[in-house]
Amino acid sequence: MKITGYEATIVNLPEDDPLANTEARGGALRPVVILRLRTDSGVEGIGVTFYGAALTGSLHLAVEGLAALTVGEDPLRIENILAKLHGGVGDSCGPGGIFMLALSAIDIALWDIKGKALDQPLWKLLGGHRDRVATYASGSLRRNLTDDQAQRAAQILVQKGFREMKTQMALPGDPTPADEIRRMRVVREAIGPDIKLMCDINQRWRPEQAIDIGSRVEDIGLFWLEDVTTADDYQGLARVTAALKTPVAGGEYLYGIAPFRQMIEARSVDIVMIDIARVGGVTSWMKVAGMAEAFNLPVVSHVMPEILVHVVAACPNGLTVEYMPWMLKLYEETPAIEDGEIVLPDKPGLGLKFDEKAVAAFKA
Ligand SMILES: [Mg+2]
Repeated sequence: MKITGYEATIVNLPEDDPLANTEARGGALRPVVILRLRTDSGVEGIGVTFYGAALTGSLHLAVEGLAALTVGEDPLRIENILAKLHGGVGDSCGPGGIFMLALSAIDIALWDIKGKALDQPLWKLLGGHRDRVATYASGSLRRNLTDDQAQRAAQILVQKGFREMKTQMALPGDPTPADEIRRMRVVREAIGPDIKLMCDINQRWRPEQAIDIGSRVEDIGLFWLEDVTTADDYQGLARVTAALKTPVAGGEYLYGIAPFRQMIEARSVDIVMIDIARVGGVTSWMKVAGMAEAFNLPVVSHVMPEILVHVVAACPNGLTVEYMPWMLKLYEETPAIEDGEIVLPDKPGLGLKFDEKAVAAFKA
């Protein structure tokens, strides 16, 4: 089997919130690069990457540049292809940034090809630990909402059957610790005691602030506090993690696998969050999950649940899937949620097909 061609396309998806229908961010668009990797057997693999923002044109070119290097290669020899891409390009302009984001799209498409070639869904190829996996609603309970809006959105998510959901602190403006704590109480009261509630700080606090506010919300029972301070302040994170009873999650901002060694060895987090585009695709995601398992740490996903459900379900220490619906529109069908859990698909590979009408409509 040989790779014969590729097609990379930029699509601009609306930044809306289909889960709780809270206000869209002023017609904002999120640019995404989608990839089709073709083979001589007729099997086509699909990949997705993003975070290019204003440099999405460069990311698109990077995906095409790397895809061109895969033509003629055997798509089932994924590590061999990755070594070629690292050696040919990444050693010069990697290891992070656009190189890694582009590499991830290739890697995801290669795993999709492997699954289709072997007629097996990806989660089974990767280990198949479970066929349903916990999931949490994300992106709705944002910090820019009023207390009333947050309360209403949280109730909508509960009515929709979500048993886990994520909100945010580090409220806009100049909030006092009391403002932050009040918001957590409002959300908790809206959903009751039994729903798992996560809270993302998106790197906006100092470590001492995280310890102060984090310790004052412990009675609210957060499932985790996420990115409480600068993502690569491994020692600062470790101080917060040691000081709080609430588990601290982090890792979504790290590129490649090596920084996770630093994060895990420093005991910076209790829960390791791995972003598939930044880490380097499915291959690297699973390597970091294995690293975390050796340290008795659970792993969680970041965005793109339609893809990440496979890796979280595959490994024994996969905890829950972030249900961030940013890219669901790209596909004809995405995995169903039943009783608050995502049901793993039976279709081969990723089990996803681009919705060609949507791709045409959102094409840049
Ligand atoms: Mg986050």
